[in-house]
Amino acid sequence: MLNGKRVVNRMNNTVYAINGPVIKVKASEDFSMLEKVYVGPKKLIGEVIAISQKETTIQVYESTTGLKKGDPVFKTSTLMSVVLGPGILGNIFDGIQRPLSVMAENDGIYITSGSQIDPLDMEKKWDITWHVKEGDGVEEGMILASTQETESISHKFMVPKGFSGTIKSIHKGKSKTLKETLCDIELFTGEIKPIPMIQEWPIKIARPIQEQLNLTTPLITGQRVIDTFFPIAKGGTAAIPGGFGAGKTMLQHQLAKWSDADIIVYVGCGERGNEMTQVLEEFKELVDPRTANALMERTVLIANTSNMPVAAREASIYTGITLAEYYRDMGYHVALMADSTSRWAEALREISGRLEEMPAEEGFPAYLPSRIALFYERAGRVKTLAGSEGSVSIIGAVSPQGSDFSEPVTQNTKRFVRSFWALDKTLAYQRHYPSVNWQDSYSEYIPDLKSWYNAEESHHFLKNRQRLRGLLAEEDALMEIVRLVGKDMLPDDQKLILEIGRVIRLGFLQQNAFHKEDMYVPLKKQAKMMEMILYLYDQTVKKLSKNISLITITSTGIFDALIKMKYTIANNYNEDFNELKDSILNTIESIE
Ligand code: ADP
Ligand code: MG
Repeated sequence: MLNGKRVVNRMNNTVYAINGPVIKVKASEDFSMLEKVYVGPKKLIGEVIAISQKETTIQVYESTTGLKKGDPVFKTSTLMSVVLGPGILGNIFDGIQRPLSVMAENDGIYITSGSQIDPLDMEKKWDITWHVKEGDGVEEGMILASTQETESISHKFMVPKGFSGTIKSIHKGKSKTLKETLCDIELFTGEIKPIPMIQEWPIKIARPIQEQLNLTTPLITGQRVIDTFFPIAKGGTAAIPGGFGAGKTMLQHQLAKWSDADIIVYVGCGERGNEMTQVLEEFKELVDPRTANALMERTVLIANTSNMPVAAREASIYTGITLAEYYRDMGYHVALMADSTSRWAEALREISGRLEEMPAEEGFPAYLPSRIALFYERAGRVKTLAGSEGSVSIIGAVSPQGSDFSEPVTQNTKRFVRSFWALDKTLAYQRHYPSVNWQDSYSEYIPDLKSWYNAEESHHFLKNRQRLRGLLAEEDALMEIVRLVGKDMLPDDQKLILEIGRVIRLGFLQQNAFHKEDMYVPLKKQAKMMEMILYLYDQTVKKLSKNISLITITSTGIFDALIKMKYTIANNYNEDFNELKDSILNTIESIE
């Protein structure tokens, strides 16, 4: 018995070839595709990835060092699955959902015990609130009961797939451990089934929903270049491509901290372990601006760091998205960050190479695009089986070698995401963070979100956004000329474009992740800042038309004052923007 399940080892189910994380078993009739298996005396966790007439191929999610030919392989007759129940939040798991211990001092995150450790704490007691009573008819996905998983999140126990029927008996008792059952359901067939506190779900199969809904609301991140320029919808997809050191991880951390999602699933895939410990340390201290609880209370981390087995990188992505869907099904808005999907693709390439598959572009397997598509397709805003609304937004970092965006992972990701936040090494080098390039990036969600922005802000919001982008495009075009002939040759109205471009870049797009007022900025303040910049621009244009020179206007310091407004005006501003506006007008009017 392993984890309470019967495992089977037939005589001929033994290892006969080992190639890194890929092993082969001669028998083929016994296994099924994507079946979870235990390999060798240490019961390493593996998954069946190919079956042919003569053999079964298994990828092992743990180090195969020490494994030998002839070692037994055990069937489980279940797919690779995650265990779903309270205790997920605030936790840190490896790619196959084993809880990890974390040591901040070392590079590190490590697995405490053997592979058979339970994903969730089976001894902890949870207080139960019932949402149904005996005799009620229930269907798949309906909410039976709930428990306060953390201070900010109520965990919903849902009817598992295939368990529609009538509540036969409720197993009362205020608090329960995850070993206990919630209730008995009498199925339509007359069979009576106990409903456990935990469910399992195969990681490679999307959880069912009632229907996909249109995307209508932005995921507000508090980052101006995203919320104002290139928003992502709740239930949408975004990619952050960027070379080494461009700021992908910092941006993912910012998004995980400040996005207005209810739940954050952060997958660290093939990146450095200390970055994950950093998230953990920071999140424990940081407070969610919406709930005043610790951010870790709504967050789950999945770490398959660079020192862990390569094969589990793939699993970590699927584990993450399945946990995200589970909370979506409770009616939450979930945001999943994956850093970096390139490391996952590289793992696919490595395994594919060991399988001697025919390589496609740059050695990646031919199924790379379909794998990427299947991952991003699990995002969406849905009507859950319980009839409520939930969403999963996916934000994946991509790390192209040498910042070359033409490589296959970036290109294929671009096909399947609708927001593209292109990080720019030159901007990062100039310490312009977040280094999102405003020419190469885009969001295809603007038409979906238009009504929301018009209703929540005003119809000026998107117009002002367009104006700012237009001014930056003009600045960019002028810079070509400046490079050739210098700035002095330009007339004042064109010099003004350069001046205002500087205000937009430094004062609006650049955002300081370490400044108390700037790390997170509410959309209302973003709107006000845009208004101020355009007001300054319009007032200056008027003044220039009265033959006042630009230099007399800029020398008042008013342009520099606007660059600093992100720091000088607090997020909970009152009259500050009205005062700033008056001061712009007074300053410019007073020039003779
Ligand atoms: P990547 O993940 O793309 O390799 P990182 O996110 O680790 O890059 O960023 C590399 C370095 O750049 C960070 O250690 C930090 O010094 C700097 N950096 C990145 N983003 C910011 C930011 N928003 N504010 C300040 N510094 C930043
Ligand atoms: Mg990084």
